Amino acid sequence: MIIGILKEPIGEKRVAMLPAQLTSLLQAGVEVLVENEAGVLSFAADADYESAGAKITSRSALIQTADILVGFWGIETSELKQAKPGVIFIGVMQPLFNYSQMQELAALGCTAFSLDMIPRTTRAQSMDVLSSQANIAGYKAVLKAADLLPHYFPMFMTAAGSIPPAKVLVLGAGVAGLQAIATAKRLGAVVEVSDTRPAVKEEVMSLGAKFIEVEGAADASAAGGYAVEQSEEFKQKQKERLAASVAKSDVIIATAQIQGKKAPLLIDEAMLKLMKPGSVVIDLAASTGGNVFGVQQNAINHINGITLYGNSQLAADMPVDASKVYGKNLYNFLQLIVSKEGAIQLNFEDDIVKGCCIVHNGAVVHDRILSLINN
Ligand code: NAD
Repeated sequence: MIIGILKEPIGEKRVAMLPAQLTSLLQAGVEVLVENEAGVLSFAADADYESAGAKITSRSALIQTADILVGFWGIETSELKQAKPGVIFIGVMQPLFNYSQMQELAALGCTAFSLDMIPRTTRAQSMDVLSSQANIAGYKAVLKAADLLPHYFPMFMTAAGSIPPAKVLVLGAGVAGLQAIATAKRLGAVVEVSDTRPAVKEEVMSLGAKFIEVEGAADASAAGGYAVEQSEEFKQKQKERLAASVAKSDVIIATAQIQGKKAPLLIDEAMLKLMKPGSVVIDLAASTGGNVFGVQQNAINHINGITLYGNSQLAADMPVDASKVYGKNLYNFLQLIVSKEGAIQLNFEDDIVKGCCIVHNGAVVHDRILSLINN
């Protein structure tokens, strides 16, 4: 059985697996092919993959030969036409947004697993690519903010006077938000946090941050741990509660998301203009519209002297560790579909395998993606 590691599209520094992660696969008798220079932007040279026991090859040879193709982002459907019949692709396809492309994939007869659809369960934690990347993004967001902010983060008492600590507001206390809180606290900031899920209050407080209470959030118990859209009444109440915190914040780290939907706009134009000139907004929800007015995806812009930076793939700015944890998640998932002897075994009774399988046997097989296609 052959696994092929694809080089990512231009602009992406991560790679699906690093050389050190190939040992167990190779020991199981799996042959590993790696596309030329797939790992260079994660500081893994072709020679490192060869030393680990993989073979370096061209993209077309890799696509034509592999039984399982792995990447971070999806592969172009047109390229998969060259692949073996029934090839398996594993990556991050964001099918809740790209559902129409899933039909094209199905028409090719391949099997596609999208790791961003893995259920957020305890058993699936070791394969949870959203968590591992969000953790890095939350950390990096605070470092970016500290870099762009014309102030210190920590409090300082110096002979030249005292410097107060930076005030940071974190919107959304999921994986990225919690890491942003912890990182901002480590840098000495005073942190406030807003989230619609009351369950996170305790975690926020245990990190030493203040939780901004807003009563009346919609019940999200049926959303698999994710948040749901809120009523207009709640949104209004939340804006009123946030206004004072926005006005005094030096930094906003925005991470609030609703799975498969546009991100909630939590800071409108009027609220943004409450911030002081020199303040910084980092919006990790930028690719789905952003939590903050005026944020642009993959760009820094300024409004009223406030610096806004939108980036939903900040983990890619730390490609070595981002690739390392992605590769580990991917390896753990591969163990579910590849036997100890190195043969493919797809068990759709397994909720993880079923939960992230989007396309199989010429059809879209994921219920949620099917309902998006049919509506
Ligand atoms: P996410 O990226 O989908 O959203 C980030 C945060 O934004 C969430 O905490 C969400 O509640 C919050 N949010 C949404 N709308 C908001 C609004 N209007 N105002 C303020 N905040 C808002 O979240 P995530 O980090 O992917 O985590 C999603 C869920 O999965 C969480 O419940 C998390 O605890 C859970 N999780 C479980 C596991 C596991 O058990 N394997 C692993 C990771 C995450």
